[in-house]
Amino acid sequence: MSNPAKLIDAAREAVVAASIVCREVQDNLNEIRQITKDDKSPVTVADYASQAVVAMVLQQHLGHIHLVAEESSTFLRDEDNAVVLDAVVAAARGVWDNADADKILAAIDIGAGDTDHHSFWTLDPIDGTKGFLRNQQYAVALGYIEGDAPTIGVMGCPNLPVNMSRPFDDRDEHGCLYYALKGEGVYESRCDDGKASSIRITRLDHAEGEEITVCGSVEKAHTNISDMDRILTWIEENGFGNAGEPARLDSQCKYAVVARGQADAYLRLPTRAGYVERIWDHAAGACIACESGAFVTDINGRNLDFSHGRGLEKNKGIVCAPPRVHGLMLKAIEALGIAQ
Ligand code: AMP
Ligand code: MG
Repeated sequence: MSNPAKLIDAAREAVVAASIVCREVQDNLNEIRQITKDDKSPVTVADYASQAVVAMVLQQHLGHIHLVAEESSTFLRDEDNAVVLDAVVAAARGVWDNADADKILAAIDIGAGDTDHHSFWTLDPIDGTKGFLRNQQYAVALGYIEGDAPTIGVMGCPNLPVNMSRPFDDRDEHGCLYYALKGEGVYESRCDDGKASSIRITRLDHAEGEEITVCGSVEKAHTNISDMDRILTWIEENGFGNAGEPARLDSQCKYAVVARGQADAYLRLPTRAGYVERIWDHAAGACIACESGAFVTDINGRNLDFSHGRGLEKNKGIVCAPPRVHGLMLKAIEALGIAQ
């Protein structure tokens, strides 16, 4: 990678700007719902505005980029949705003074890149859309993939409290930003100020005898809750330790929660055989967790392989945990026949 500092700086600025936009939309959920006469549209507005802002800032700093982002501009180009496009422009103007409809649509289209490059960016402009609508956790997640793995991860968690003793659904005033460069560790800073100081965070290994707390999705369709319970019961019954009450939160914030030592594992256990995880749901978070010292694999213990297009085609589910707990989780998964 040439000039990683320049890439990281651009990515941080992009994610901070998008996080500010998302917070602003969340502060005005009801107003946007009224304007657009649609309950789900606030997340739509924030998704598009976030993607446009990230793409614009990256391009401003880095010139031509390859960006594979979740959203496409097709919906906004339909005249029937002009009111939503107007709301997207208004939201983006909070950080992008002269944004207009054409500039926004062009910026969203930057994200229509493909994965046929050795290195490219991938973006989930709002990961955890259900959490966003519930005023709970969500993330702006930007990863840089080189070959088969992410080498940069930058994640804005606008509602995640810095203070780990506060409950997850307490909406924080500043939120947290995490950024990681492969081989250089992971750093935490405020999510609403690109110039804020940052501190390095390290994930200590889990000590024998300590309680094991896992985290997983809120949405039952996204992780198999009964398999999670079976794993925790297996760990207890086989004398490997006591399991705490699992923490449930939306989005890739779960990777950061493991990285900063607030949970001992993030488990994503398949609910159905055919589901393929999307690269933008994991690139930033996996890089952040790995750089803290945690291991990130699928439920078969395989490394996540980002070299198969937009999906993690060769992987099933996710196990992210510090080394000792990671080993325990894989052992339990195998013993219970959950691995596929
Ligand atoms: P979470 O915040 O953990 O609930 O994960 C949110 C992500 O789950 C979304 O960005 C979706 O891409 C993804 N998703 C959608 N359907 C499924 C599924 N059946 N299994 C796992 N993940 C899914
Ligand atoms: Mg997502």
